[in-house]
Amino acid sequence: MALGFSNDLPAAATVYDCMDELSGFAGAPPQLLDREAQLFSAADVVFTGGLRLYQAKRDRHPNVHAFPSSIDAAHFARTSEQDPQDQASIPHPRAGFYGVLDERFDHQLIAEAARLKPSIHFVFIGPIVKIDPVALPQAANIHYLGAKSYDELPAYLASWDVALIPFALNDSTFYISPTKTPEYLAAGKPVVSTAIYDVVRGYGENGLVSIANDAASFAAAVEQSLSPRSDAWHKQVADKLQTTSWEKTWNSMWSEVERVLAVFSSVHTAASPVQTALSPATSKPRSSREAAVTRAHAPLRHASYDYLVVGAGFAGSVLAERLATVMDKRVLLIDKRDHVGGNTFDYYDHAGILVHRYGPHIFHTNSADVMKYLSQFNLDTVNRLYNLSLDADGMQAFLAGRVETPALIRTSEDIVVSRVGRDLYAKFFQGYTRKQWGLDPSQLDSSVAGRIPIRFNRDDRYFTDTFQAMPKYGYTRLFERMLDHPNIEQALGIDYREIRKIYPGIKTIFTGPVDEFFGYRFGKLPYRSLAFDHQTFHREQFQSAPVVNYPNDQEYTRVTEFKFLTGQQNARTSVVFEYPKAEGDPYYPIPRPENAALYARYRELAEKVEDVHFVGRLATYRYYNMDQVVAQALATARKIMGDTDLAASNFSVGREKLTRTLAPGGLLAPARASVPSQ
Ligand SMILES: Cc1cc2nc3c(=O)[nH]c(=O)nc-3n(C[C@H](O)[C@H](O)[C@H](O)COP(=O)(O)OP(=O)(O)OC[C@H]3O[C@@H](n4cnc5c(N)ncnc54)[C@H](O)[C@@H]3O)c2cc1C
Repeated sequence: MALGFSNDLPAAATVYDCMDELSGFAGAPPQLLDREAQLFSAADVVFTGGLRLYQAKRDRHPNVHAFPSSIDAAHFARTSEQDPQDQASIPHPRAGFYGVLDERFDHQLIAEAARLKPSIHFVFIGPIVKIDPVALPQAANIHYLGAKSYDELPAYLASWDVALIPFALNDSTFYISPTKTPEYLAAGKPVVSTAIYDVVRGYGENGLVSIANDAASFAAAVEQSLSPRSDAWHKQVADKLQTTSWEKTWNSMWSEVERVLAVFSSVHTAASPVQTALSPATSKPRSSREAAVTRAHAPLRHASYDYLVVGAGFAGSVLAERLATVMDKRVLLIDKRDHVGGNTFDYYDHAGILVHRYGPHIFHTNSADVMKYLSQFNLDTVNRLYNLSLDADGMQAFLAGRVETPALIRTSEDIVVSRVGRDLYAKFFQGYTRKQWGLDPSQLDSSVAGRIPIRFNRDDRYFTDTFQAMPKYGYTRLFERMLDHPNIEQALGIDYREIRKIYPGIKTIFTGPVDEFFGYRFGKLPYRSLAFDHQTFHREQFQSAPVVNYPNDQEYTRVTEFKFLTGQQNARTSVVFEYPKAEGDPYYPIPRPENAALYARYRELAEKVEDVHFVGRLATYRYYNMDQVVAQALATARKIMGDTDLAASNFSVGREKLTRTLAPGGLLAPARASVPSQ
């Protein structure tokens, strides 16, 4: 919950130390799960305080480690303590428990066990929280001594004959990993517990703790535990406690943190020219999520680099990765934005929903090579094209009677009327295109509408490619994994124009706008831009499909509901409205003949610049999808390497292969809009 006020703290690394599934507790704030999603997104490493908790969280982050309870054994082994005054009068044998008495405490079990074993005295130490004290069992052999300090506990424990973990098996104890288990054992006490997963796995299965499932067997186990323990048992306990010392756990945790810091620590060494080029305004991250991806600001490690890569979108990042991993080049990767990922950047919004800042991005491709390459970094294949050909023939026949056959297919209007006829063209395509492009389809190149799939079946996904996928942990995480290489240094929030003079003659991959690179000397290449209006609603669902297009009436062209693209569960929902604009960030190169001619002049210049490769949507002024940009970048990498086999055969160099998990029903929900985006 502290994220509400700590989100903006700059941090060298963020550790999420997950101690329990607190959302399962009575009275847990409803925002807890949303906040946890944000924390997962911001964290560099996650620790879980238990084994079952680890199993529940390990698929939510690539860097999760289980650290079940560790203790200061010497503190609890103080067996020579005097029996405290309020306990001294309680007869032996004593079976004791310390901890909070709340909904986790199985009071029915204790009432019954105390009834079955009247000669055993049950001692309870701890505050009564969230439950009515009247509900607690009362009997001559049950004693509540109230809360005690950590310092006082060993003295009480020392004079018990058996120690208890009488937890109810409910939501609040499902993930619990009671620290009192090793504490009791450190005092040399036999322990009886209900079948709490972590106690069973960590201590019950090897005979260190007696496990009982009902009141009768619990009472019997307490009685049996009164007999002295064998030397072998004490030895086994001592060995186990060796593995759970504070020092040992601390060292293991710290080495995980250091591993994370090592990735970024390189940037905290001697100042470099780039550092001086940083303006204060760009060095403040907006959120901890963004802090995670932008902390590579500031001093840079290498005095010199083999390559400068401009732009941390797919084009730049794939090339940075290839150069570093396969060719062992030292790469400086810069982006004028303060994050990696380019237009695909995603982040958890204030509702904990993963949203795409620059509009929805659905990965789709027919290229097995591209798919294979990206899968190293956690791109999930979620579904292959499934073919529900319901009435396909009928639909085809229906359209065949309406289509027109222009003599020459030149414009977007030509191609659409040739495929669906004028009526559907007017209803679905014309208005949408006018809004999106500010041009009538008759003024737009046929390639724009040509990429829109026309469907003769009921496959309601937008794209028809063989592979459709979403990154398992989002695009930004995928990029972070891709760029996590000691040879790659990131400097975010830096414009190429600020630093190009600092590295004269350096080999460069340029993925920004090609006209900008040449100072707009032939004039500006036109782009269509978008304004994104992100909104969150306090309801489960906003619209009937993940993406709904608005061809005619509204000013926005489409609305995307992110949960349904990613499969995320949340009581709220976040959507983005897209408003086409003439001015703003360059998103869509406008494919018109005069623009193609203008670009050809820039391309001619580009081809003459030695040691600069122009790659990606902006640098080649082409309307590319993500997979095409990845393919283009991989081809460029091969060209640079001059060895096709080497490049192709090194897809998994230095990377572990990751198993993929399929979300139920497919992570990628279909875009059911009848009119696609352009
Ligand atoms: C709204 C929208 C939706 C889309 N949806 C899909 C989809 O569903 N599926 C799909 O396959 N594709 C989609 N795309 C296309 C996809 O975004 C692109 O194919 C892909 O992002 C292109 O990658 P890139 O690296 O070429 O460019 P970008 O992602 O634009 O990256 C270029 C980077 O260069 C940086 N840069 C530019 N100039 C400079 C400079 N002077 N100095 C430093 N840095 C600079 C920019 O800040 C940017 O981060 C969509 C595009 C948009 C706009």
